[in-house]
Order: sequence, then C-alpha cells, then structure tokens
Amino acid sequence: MLDKTKDKYEVVIGLEVHAQLLTKSKIFCGCSTKFGASPNTQTCPVCLGLPGVLPVLNKEVVNFAIMMGFATNGDIAPNSRFARKNYFYPDLPKGYQISQYEQPLVIGGHVDISIDGTVKRIGLTRIHMEEDAGKSIHGGGGNTSLVDLNRTGVPLIEIVSEPDIRSSEEAVEYLKKLREIVRYLEICDGNMDEGSFRCDANVSIRPVGETTLGTKAEVKNMNSFKFIQKALEYEIERQVEVVEGGGRIIQETRLWDSDKGITVSMRSKEEAHDYRYFPEPDLVPVEVSVEWKEEVRKRLPELPDEKRNRFIRDYEIPDYDAMVLTSSRALAGFYEEAVRVYRKPKAISNWIMGDLLRDLNLAGIEVEQSPVKPHQIAAMVKMIDDGIISGKIAKTVFEDMYKTSKDPDVIVKEKGLVQITDESAIEGIVDKVIAENPIQAEAFRGGKDKLIGFFVGQVMKLSGGKANPAAVNEIIKRKLS
Ligand code: ADP
Ligand code: ZN
Ligand code: MG
Repeated sequence: MLDKTKDKYEVVIGLEVHAQLLTKSKIFCGCSTKFGASPNTQTCPVCLGLPGVLPVLNKEVVNFAIMMGFATNGDIAPNSRFARKNYFYPDLPKGYQISQYEQPLVIGGHVDISIDGTVKRIGLTRIHMEEDAGKSIHGGGGNTSLVDLNRTGVPLIEIVSEPDIRSSEEAVEYLKKLREIVRYLEICDGNMDEGSFRCDANVSIRPVGETTLGTKAEVKNMNSFKFIQKALEYEIERQVEVVEGGGRIIQETRLWDSDKGITVSMRSKEEAHDYRYFPEPDLVPVEVSVEWKEEVRKRLPELPDEKRNRFIRDYEIPDYDAMVLTSSRALAGFYEEAVRVYRKPKAISNWIMGDLLRDLNLAGIEVEQSPVKPHQIAAMVKMIDDGIISGKIAKTVFEDMYKTSKDPDVIVKEKGLVQITDESAIEGIVDKVIAENPIQAEAFRGGKDKLIGFFVGQVMKLSGGKANPAAVNEIIKRKLS
C-alpha cells in the first residue's frame, strides 16, 4: 500500500477455497476422476446431464468432507442437503451445479496460522460438498472453443472463511495451512497448477476503526501462491486509489491477469437469487449418524499442528525445525524413521533441512523419491559421533550417498575416508609440516600463537581432511612448545 495511506485503511479478506477430492470416482456416478485423460473419455449419462438418469451420492465424498470438518474444528451437521445452483455455461451440461446451499455439511470451525511468530485464528463459515464443472478450452484451433467434460462431476469441497484475513501475507499463510491439512488427510493433492486446489478471494477495505464491512470485489483465476499474493496486493492498492480519488468500490467479480499483473473487471457480482437455488429433488438429504462420524474420526491421522508440537516436545528441536520437518507427512515420516535408527534429533534435522532438502529442491523431487534413505542419514551421523569421519568429510560422504544411494560405511571404506585418530600417524604428518615450514615454526615457538591455525590447516590438507582435528591441535601444541 502507498505509504501515506498505509495506516488509513484496514484490509478485509475472506477466501473461498475449492479442493478437488481424491476419490476414485465422481461424486454422483462411477466415472473415473483421474486427471489428464483424453477429453470426454471419462463421462457417462449422469455426468453428461442426459435425461432419464439419477445421481447417486458417493459415500467417500461425505467421508472426506467430514474428515476436513474434524481437522478444522467444525460441527458436522446431522442433516444436510444438496441444492441446485442454476446457471448456463457450455461446460455445465445439466444447466445447474449440484452444491449445498442452506444446509451445508460442516458449520463453523477455524484454522490457526502463524504470522511473525504469533498465532492468529481464522474462522471458517462452512464447508460444503459440490460437483465440479467441465473445462472450456479457448483458442485451441482458430476461433473455436472446446469443452472437456471429464471434470464434470468430480467432487469438490468448498471451504469458506470468515472475513478474518487482514493482509495478503495472512491470506497466503491461511491457504498454505489449508493445503497442508488436505494433504495430511490425503483427501486432495493440493496441486494448484492442475487446479485441484484453487481459491477465490473476496477483498474489501475500510477506514481503520470502522466496524461495518466495505463493499467487496471477488478476485478469481490465480493458480499459485505467488499470484494470489500479487493479485491481492494489486487489488488492495486499486481499491485504495479508487476511494482516495473520491470514487466508490462496486461489487464485482474480477479476473487476475498474470501477464499484465493486474485484476480486470469480469462481471458485476451476481446475487444468490440469480442462481434460483432450490433443493435437489433427485437426492435424499444426507444424514450423518453419530456412529458414522465416529467411524470417520478413526481415519484421522495426526494433524500438522499436533505433529509439530510433539516434535518440539519429544525431540527438543527448535520451532523452526519442527515447522519445516512437518510441512508434509512424508518428510515428517522420513525424519522420524532416521531418529528411530539413531536418536540424535537435532543433528539429523540439520542434515535433512540443509543438505537433503537442498539437493531434493535442486532436483525438483519430493522426499518420497529421495536417493538417500533415513537409515543412511542416521548411520552417517553416528559415524561422525563415533569419530570415524569428521563433520567435514561427512559433507563429501553425503553428496556421494545422494549420487549413488550407497550406505555411508561403504562409501567411507571405498574412498578411504576413515578419520585418522591414530596418534603416531598424525604425529608423522605434523613432523612433516613442521619440517617444511621452519620459519613459521620458529615464530610459533617465539609466541605467535595465532599460527596454530596455519599448522592445523596444513596438517588437515596433507591428511586429505581425515585427521581428527582435536588430536591435530593437541599434537601441534605439544611439538612446538
Ligand atoms: P456472497 O454472497 O457474495 O457469496 P458471502 O457472504 O457468501 O458473499 O461471502 C463469501 C466470502 O466473502 C466469504 O469468504 C466471506 O468471508 C467473504 N466476505 C464477505 N463480505 C466481505 C467483505 N466485505 N470483504 C471481504 N470479504 C468478504
Ligand atoms: Zn459419469
Ligand atoms: Mg456466498
């Protein structure tokens, strides 16, 4: 925001997140939900909206939505129902989308985010189930638009936040947290490129101190965290300029244009009554019994916040380490496996957060594909502790492990990297270095203590980094006293 207006306005953001569920089949028919099949090959009369067929609710969709409700502390409604949201679009063959409207499955809840080390709670309004629409592909061949209905009927949950978010940074933190949760639950792959995790952002501003909400604009079409942050920043700035210029914000839907880095007006905002919502007559209400809820509760994994706190408590690692290590279930599992093999939690954390994640990021692969296995990192850390290799040599060993997937002891043996701790061997090297550097040796004897660094460096070099540094230090001092 411009400096002069920074303290004048408060930003208000509420997010609507759509997460595609990882069920094998669609929400109301048996068609596959697999991404990337050739267009219109995963369709049937139900998802094509042909007459004379009826939808049947996929129970796993309800299970997944309940899991998300539990994970975000919402109330699971014992009775909820589907409704028709009517609108015309070529990628919506029925002419309506089956969604939930007045009676969503999950009510309320919250998600805690961390901003500069302080925890902020973002309220949730609701989570409901709905079907996805198809996909229009524009500009493929000349002036034509094509429609792919493979995505029609793929299950979604929509997670609606309260207007509790106060900056673009908070919005991104909130989204990262939600994505982390759906991934932990394994109900959505969180892939923003492929559109399986997407968000519409409602943005308004108001003078600081004002308690009623300002008029909002809804921004769509952002497919990465970076774009969401940029789009929100642009939109906030735009609204401030409109208001500062004496204008009024109009309620509208705006599209993010990532090439130009701006939001552009798409249409004036539709109202709920434009959709002619009415209860879906082809589906019975969803009744979730206490028993059903409890069955689903058993499927909940340990969630990111719980895992983070347990890591801090049990492994006594810093908050930051715990945050990085629990950013995915797979990474947390990798870490715990290594610590189980050799309980040096901080040392192992350092190797994973530093060398391993760096190499994985460079290669663009996930920890599941890591060429280095948890027990190998554990074994390497143990070799350092046992004095078999120095921390410096371990860097080389790690790189070799990463390249070859060999065990660290094999690498150390093959390359002759075992640390030299044998006194007489080190003495031999020290003698040689002293003999080759008589002037420095004289100076050291004469009181130039600082030269110790020079001698240690020479000995380490001559030993190929393998001499035990503590022993080297001690022997040099003894010989030159
Ligand atoms: P609509 O009826 O336009 O869909 P809702 O009241 O259902 O609006 O809210 C949709 C989303 O917009 C929610 O996430 C909500 O928190 C957010 N929202 C509502 N009013 C505002 C506002 N004035 N400024 C920013 N966000 C808002
Ligand atoms: Zn189908
Ligand atoms: Mg709404």
